[in-house]
Amino acid sequence: MKKFKYIIIGNSAGAIGGVQGIRKVDQASEILIITSEPWETYSRPLISYWLQGKVKREKMHYRDPSFYKENNCRIRYNTSVEKINPQDQTMALADGEIIGYEKLLVATGSIPFVPPIKGLPKNLKESKSIFTFTTLADAIGVKKGLTNDARVVILGAGLIGLKAAEAMVNQCQSVTVVDLADRVLPSVLEDKSSDIVKKHLETQAVDFMLETSITEIRDKEVLLSNGKSLPYEILILAVGTKPQCTLIQEARGDIGRGIVTDHHQETTLKNIYAAGDCTQSLDISSETQKNLAILPNAFLQGEVAGMNMAGEEAVYDQAFPLNSVGFMGLYILSAGTYDGVAYETQTPEQYKKIFIKDNVLKGYIIIGDCMRGGIYTDLIREQTDLSTIDLKMLITSPQIMAFNQSSRKEKLAQSH
Ligand SMILES: Cc1cc2nc3c(=O)[nH]c(=O)nc-3n(C[C@H](O)[C@H](O)[C@H](O)COP(=O)(O)OP(=O)(O)OC[C@H]3O[C@@H](n4cnc5c(N)ncnc54)[C@H](O)[C@@H]3O)c2cc1C
Repeated sequence: MKKFKYIIIGNSAGAIGGVQGIRKVDQASEILIITSEPWETYSRPLISYWLQGKVKREKMHYRDPSFYKENNCRIRYNTSVEKINPQDQTMALADGEIIGYEKLLVATGSIPFVPPIKGLPKNLKESKSIFTFTTLADAIGVKKGLTNDARVVILGAGLIGLKAAEAMVNQCQSVTVVDLADRVLPSVLEDKSSDIVKKHLETQAVDFMLETSITEIRDKEVLLSNGKSLPYEILILAVGTKPQCTLIQEARGDIGRGIVTDHHQETTLKNIYAAGDCTQSLDISSETQKNLAILPNAFLQGEVAGMNMAGEEAVYDQAFPLNSVGFMGLYILSAGTYDGVAYETQTPEQYKKIFIKDNVLKGYIIIGDCMRGGIYTDLIREQTDLSTIDLKMLITSPQIMAFNQSSRKEKLAQSH
């Protein structure tokens, strides 16, 4: 049986963070990366831009292909890990091979949630007209079926559904987004901001049917809960993702809203670490455990896991929701939790809402000009005490917050 000092399952943001974390401490030992996908690491958020024709395949690399050699990584593509046995620190691969590890990082990400709709084909992967939209393979499948006269129906008005809509709307006859929720981006935005985004997308020819669900999928037609039907050549199922925790669950590790880890990213199983979309994180803005399926979180968790795997103590305790996304020229920046007293401003260039509780910025939403949004993100991350701060200034001129406390006091004094 082959044995490796470090094995990483997955080859995306969490895994790459893991390699970089290990290399901060241990520059020599070989790292084995095992991935069920056939590609070198790519940036998952770019699949919609590739489908849109805005990004070439070679520009999708999350790291240059030379990364593996430079970091002494051996990589096995198209290979699934089937089972982990923490007792003897081994794992079984899909082809039956058993390999051993000293330290293991599980960065298995998330998988699309596919709702049990009547008429759904048994093997979605073989369908030429019904797709999920989370991998490059999905995007390649969609591209094959996308023609100028295709009618596209997207189930789900979340980030992935709207990114798919943006990618396709100018390459087909129509795009209709169906969602049970009464607003778009329901888990990221509240009423008013959501309405701004919806109206913007409608001006770009994306149609919406909200408070509606698909009750049956037929060949080239979906039936809706409102009694109507929609014809389709392409149907995208984008109702959300779920953390891929099976390996740890079957090995009897703790699972909450994802794989449970401590601040070192170690799971409840000795010498097994986890990072990225497959984990649960403590959201510092709401002080609750969440599955934060965002790329920076995956990378940072992976990096901390890698450092600990290589023997240096590192801690990750600054997780919170953070979204930075654009739809057809309209930018959205949001972070934290929408809890506390809300302060809202609106100009032709920008809509902004910030949420303050117990003198701490808990969350914010900016639509349009997002230039100064990073300052709010820092305030959430640092949990800065805002008790001495002029609220009006915080809302209208956040750049003042970028200064240290003494110069901030000076600046604030000048403004009175
Ligand atoms: C269309 C789209 C747009 C997005 N836009 C944004 C954005 O704007 N901003 C943002 O922050 N995030 C965005 N995200 C989310 C972001 O891509 C994820 O948070 C990030 O990719 C998570 O990285 P990860 O390493 O945890 O997992 P993943 O990227 O999911 O990778 C996990 C890998 O593990 C492999 N794997 C799983 N199980 C096994 C196994 N048993 N054996 C071997 N290999 C296995 C999988 O095949 C996969 O390659 C977007 C996602 C999508 C799909």
